[in-house]
Amino acid sequence: MDFRFSEKEDLLRKSVREFAENEIPTKIEAMEETGEFPTELLEPMGKLGITGVITPPEYGGVGLGYVARTIVLEELGRVCAAMPMAMQVHHMACANINDYGTDAQRGKYLPPLAKGETMGCVAVTDPTGGSDVVGMKTTAELKGDKYVLNGRKCFITNSHTSDFWVVIAKTEEGAKGLSAFIVDKDTPGARVGRKENKFGLRGANTGELVFDDCEVPRENLLGQEGGGLAVAIKTISETGRTGMAAVGLGILTAVYEEACKFASERTLYGKPISSLQAIQFYLAEIFSQLEICRLLCYRASWLRDQNMRCDNEAALAKYYTCEAAANAAKKAIEIHGAYGIMREYRIQRLLRDAMVTIPSGGTAEIAKVVLARAALAPFKTKS
Ligand SMILES: Cc1cc2nc3c(=O)[nH]c(=O)nc-3n(C[C@H](O)[C@H](O)[C@H](O)COP(=O)(O)OP(=O)(O)OC[C@H]3O[C@@H](n4cnc5c(N)ncnc54)[C@H](O)[C@@H]3O)c2cc1C
Repeated sequence: MDFRFSEKEDLLRKSVREFAENEIPTKIEAMEETGEFPTELLEPMGKLGITGVITPPEYGGVGLGYVARTIVLEELGRVCAAMPMAMQVHHMACANINDYGTDAQRGKYLPPLAKGETMGCVAVTDPTGGSDVVGMKTTAELKGDKYVLNGRKCFITNSHTSDFWVVIAKTEEGAKGLSAFIVDKDTPGARVGRKENKFGLRGANTGELVFDDCEVPRENLLGQEGGGLAVAIKTISETGRTGMAAVGLGILTAVYEEACKFASERTLYGKPISSLQAIQFYLAEIFSQLEICRLLCYRASWLRDQNMRCDNEAALAKYYTCEAAANAAKKAIEIHGAYGIMREYRIQRLLRDAMVTIPSGGTAEIAKVVLARAALAPFKTKS
């Protein structure tokens, strides 16, 4: 077992850290106020290999894989978690098209996505189908050489900034009746609906996509008709959950740094509060959680890079890290005393952001359903 990062990965971390520290802080206030993603950062992120980190070089990406992607997302999240939130969903769209697309679809959509010239999103959830994916009501009916989509998707990250959407809709009833489509945002009958007013991860817009007799060319079917559930599950469980875990890891890293910095600078009784054992114990707990989560997140990404199954590990990394980030942020707020709840202190944003990661990409309860299945598998009796 080798826990070291490669030289290339260390260099990537350094360059993304520099970019994040120099370019993102001036955008945060506007992101918090307007809920808008700073799309002007897409092209510079393209040049650094952030937007195309998992996309193969033949399609314009840098093809560095999932460990590199976790580095990138963690470093962006250390400065502002809305950035990796938007990026990780953008990567999900890239993975969808790379894994299931035809050569023509890959050639058309992946190079601009990888370079940051366009942005993508993945729309699975609709109002009747959150955790219950098969319960969705959005339909796609084949009429001649077009699929006609009707329905509404909700809580979609990058809804208002994406150039095209990967949409899962029902071509028939049942689990085998879901299909995936690439829908260009300008397709007649397709439009964005309301933009949600979230209390955290504000700069990563979340909203509705609406389909009213939206005619999608047959060649925009992604994968096989009836293969949509597999597309959704593979993307959510491998790319989505490793991505959300990394967003949580970025927040947790920021929480650790803010907590230690404040505890070292705040003086009471003539000494920094970091000399109080109660505060040291809080810091030790935050530090321990960070170390544990780092291992979980990088293991899941490493497995994905080896093309090994990683759904259980990704569910564990996502669930554990996002919960740990929220718990650590609460402790760090306590370390800050009254300052912790003041808007000008960053720590309150970290708690808000961490809370929003918990349902995104599958709730904690759904992760526990996956983990309970894994825990019980060796003890399964034949019935
Ligand atoms: C910020 C954000 C970004 C998102 N981005 C996207 C996106 O880009 N694309 C997309 O498609 N979706 C996205 N989602 C939607 C997200 O995937 C869903 O919110 C999530 O799957 C849960 O669905 P729901 O909100 O409808 O909750 P429900 O499914 O209605 O769940 C309600 C409650 O019931 C519990 N529950 C449900 N089923 C079970 C079960 N079997 N066992 C135990 N408890 C259960 C849940 O854990 C939860 O506590 C996003 C959500 C958020 C908050």
